Amino acid sequence: MSALTLSLTAACLAGPAMAQDATVPQNDLLNATLWMETSVEYKATVSQLFTLAKLQLDAALADADWTAVSDKQPEGYADLPVAIITDLDETMLDNGNYEASLVTRGTDYSSKEWTDYVNSETSTAVPGALDFLNYADSKGVKIFYVSNRKAIEKDGTVSNLEALGFPMGGNVDTVLLRGDKEEWTSAKESRIDYVAKDYRVLLLMGDNLGDFTDKADGSIADRDAVFDETADHWGHDWIMFPNPEYGSWESAAFGGDYGKSTDQRRQDKIDALDPWTPAQ
Ligand SMILES: [Mg+2]
Repeated sequence: MSALTLSLTAACLAGPAMAQDATVPQNDLLNATLWMETSVEYKATVSQLFTLAKLQLDAALADADWTAVSDKQPEGYADLPVAIITDLDETMLDNGNYEASLVTRGTDYSSKEWTDYVNSETSTAVPGALDFLNYADSKGVKIFYVSNRKAIEKDGTVSNLEALGFPMGGNVDTVLLRGDKEEWTSAKESRIDYVAKDYRVLLLMGDNLGDFTDKADGSIADRDAVFDETADHWGHDWIMFPNPEYGSWESAAFGGDYGKSTDQRRQDKIDALDPWTPAQ
């Protein structure tokens, strides 16, 4: 084998892994966004979760003592009307086109651009969301959407939800956004408290630990401890949806410090891994 053949063979073997074309956008969101936007695996995963949620909702409706938030319900809560509390983004609403826009433009999230995106009203429903929510609505369950979209994004959010056919609250405001009341910060428990004083809360649904508890923003070890404390809820009255694109799981790896450069955050995330080392 000639030296030329050898070097060509080596180049072919190295091939795609070595190739890095500056015109191809390099963005850490690519695989997660591709998975959520195109894969059957994502659709099947969320379909399974809505099937589970429906089974648990039926069980909850048949059990007058059932509550997803026992520490927040007043005495006599069994007599209250029933509700579920769900997050919106990447739980009921799919913002894949926004994430795809970040990937294809090679840019990062910005608050200003996110508001423009919300006002474009182009979010779609997560597969299975409408069937589940309309089923809950048909059973007389009030659906509260507790989202960290901002108060200034309310009109666009409500309009988007209505156009998609999400059950709305009639004369009750069921879209509870960050900043709708002064005390409603990104930590959601004050909004969960607000609902739980007037409704028996049957399920919590979200894609981020912070959709369930305010103890979501600690270190990776802190979050593991919260998981252990809340183990009985998962798959019972708390339903977690997959979101590999973003969330407090990601910021935990770089100490929640978004002031760090993209490269530093990437390095911190790499450092959080526990890699196997191949034998020499
Ligand atoms: Mg979300």
